[in-house]
Amino acid sequence: MSKTKTTDTNYSPTMVSDKLEVLYELQNVDSQIDKVRVLRGELPLEVEDLEVEIKKLNDRLEKQSDIESEFNNSIVLQENKIKEANALIKKYETQQMKVRNNREFDAINKEMEFQGLEIELANKKIKGVGVELEENAGKIKLIKAKIRERKKHLKKKKTELDSIIQSTEKEEAKLLSKKKKVSKLIPDSLMSSYDSIRLASRNGLAVVKVSRGACGGCFSSITSQHHLNIKLRKEIYFCENCGRILVPDDIDSK
Ligand SMILES: [Zn+2]
Repeated sequence: MSKTKTTDTNYSPTMVSDKLEVLYELQNVDSQIDKVRVLRGELPLEVEDLEVEIKKLNDRLEKQSDIESEFNNSIVLQENKIKEANALIKKYETQQMKVRNNREFDAINKEMEFQGLEIELANKKIKGVGVELEENAGKIKLIKAKIRERKKHLKKKKTELDSIIQSTEKEEAKLLSKKKKVSKLIPDSLMSSYDSIRLASRNGLAVVKVSRGACGGCFSSITSQHHLNIKLRKEIYFCENCGRILVPDDIDSK
């Protein structure tokens, strides 16, 4: 929009001045509504982050628990091997009593020795797994403590955020009813200009003050004649560069 002024130039100075003041007020209300909405939009993110963190911790806990049962299974496996070896040794002992010669005796002895080694190996493995099991139990304990702590934090945050959301909703409702009242004082054509400028503006500003001879929205300079007219509140001026509605910097000094 590069129009310099409204087509309707029949406003009396007081009427223009009133409209500028109402537009400025509307802008303030809208900016406050924007702020409340942005705030409320960001709040649940914190809770969401915590929920994701807890889920990751639970996944880790599950993984460590799986590892724990794997370790326990391998201990059972080794214990069974020991039982089998012991049973074999017992069997060999009775066999040895019935041998007929040295050759047979030595052969059985070799078998027994072998089973003895098997038992030794299994015990060694059990010991090794035991160390790892202990290490893993330490990890599980830490993760469980962390989950408890994060859950407590989440609960606190949730209550906190619920109350903030409630209060921002109340504030927004109040601001919206104020906006409704203020909007009624603005002619339809001006209102639709305002709405479309606001929609196009990234920061939601449709009405800006003139600041040091420049548009307060895009900072491009304004001719001194326009500046003077804006100061005198003669007409409604739009910034030639960004299209925003320009109001004098003393608009709110009443
Ligand atoms: Zn501008």
